[in-house]
Amino acid sequence: MKNTKPKKSELAFERKNFWKDAPPVEQKEAMDYAVDYKEFLNQAKTEREVTAWAEKLLKKHKFADIHSKAGASKVYSIFRGKTMAVAILGSEPLSKGFNMVAAHIDSPRLDLKQNPLYEDSNTKLACMRTHYYGGIKKYQWVSTPLSLHGVIVKQDGSVLNISIGEKDNEPVFIIPDLLPHLAAKEQYSKNLNDAIDASKLNVVFSGMVQPSGEEKKAAKAFALQALNKAYGITEADFLSAELQLVPAVKARDAGIDSSMVVGYGQDDRVCAYTALTALIANQSQKPERTMIVYLSDKEEVGSNGATGAHSVFVQDFVADLMAYKGEDNSSANLRKAFINSYILSADVCAAVNPNYPNVHEIENAVILNYGIGVSKFTGPRGKYGCNDADAEFSAQVLNTFTAAGVFWQTGELGKVDEGGGGTIAYILANLGGHVIDCGVGILGMHSLYELSSKADIYSTYKGYKVFLANK
Ligand code: MN
Ligand code: MN
Repeated sequence: MKNTKPKKSELAFERKNFWKDAPPVEQKEAMDYAVDYKEFLNQAKTEREVTAWAEKLLKKHKFADIHSKAGASKVYSIFRGKTMAVAILGSEPLSKGFNMVAAHIDSPRLDLKQNPLYEDSNTKLACMRTHYYGGIKKYQWVSTPLSLHGVIVKQDGSVLNISIGEKDNEPVFIIPDLLPHLAAKEQYSKNLNDAIDASKLNVVFSGMVQPSGEEKKAAKAFALQALNKAYGITEADFLSAELQLVPAVKARDAGIDSSMVVGYGQDDRVCAYTALTALIANQSQKPERTMIVYLSDKEEVGSNGATGAHSVFVQDFVADLMAYKGEDNSSANLRKAFINSYILSADVCAAVNPNYPNVHEIENAVILNYGIGVSKFTGPRGKYGCNDADAEFSAQVLNTFTAAGVFWQTGELGKVDEGGGGTIAYILANLGGHVIDCGVGILGMHSLYELSSKADIYSTYKGYKVFLANK
């Protein structure tokens, strides 16, 4: 008689290591996929730069601005230059629901203050004051080369895009740390969080002085003169500007096997990139359900404001899609569209760090190289403020991944009561949609050089691609 009892290996769940179990052709695809990804990380370091980069890519693939022409089936909308949504229209009405992957494109950084420039009276150096954005560990931002990015709107209304320090022949900026010889009282006696005070995160901007000798603050005068000469700006132009300091170095392969990527702002540009390229890879399909990729801003500071996920922009975009398709986009019908939607909240997860395994519970933590990380819920202290994806939708997503041969694993953000955090999942779930968190596991999240695995990046791309195309 044939033994029909399932084998032990079929009863227990075990996640699979991509480098052990993926076919060689997929392993090669994973390595190849990361080449353009690194280039993207280097070219687009701020939310404005990501939207500009994405628009260029979308135009190349014949996506049309939703406000520019009717009749296209591939459309996008950019809002205030900092957030965007892209869609491939399906044959079904949107009120029956859509498939969305939603990532964010802002990353922790140092913003210049509105009145940034001052001359240090002791050293006669011109310096710039900063105000950090998002959850940074302040000690990481000293003694590291920084580049300056952003936008200055001059008093005549003209807009100046700034990028200094990315090209090899451009200068970079630095916040000099205190030498160890003199750090005993100032730093070593304090805890890690207080050792670098936010008021000491001032960048050295320039060192020369105005030669006339009459200027009281000759170093500041020189800096203003140089800025005026190079950009035609005055000190008052800083008051309204958005200028951001980010790590000046480039994304690189990491590890002797080059199986990983180290780079700034992979939270959450890795999910933005995988989502966008997944959508584009689906462009020849004639889908039933409309596929949408939504890239939000301000996630690192609570998703508020016109460009954050709490904004009406994403609802307005779906309403525009309905109008574009000639569908009733009344408030009631728009609500139906969201209520019937399937959404992946595409954000990075905290992978287990070999130096700090005890902040996780390993069986419920994401590990590098085991594929896209799925988190049913987030939220600290008893799941506080979480979106808890329902079992039906969670199973649907995991089954979709399994059927398509996507490497996946599940995990929570750390051990219970160890800490925690959240994403934009609950914001979209508040609109009634089915939402679950899933994305790439990262080591050193929010640091200047986050580490990711090419296996997980590729698995995430593949996962988003099959999810978007789901019926
Ligand atoms: Mn994130
Ligand atoms: Mn983050």
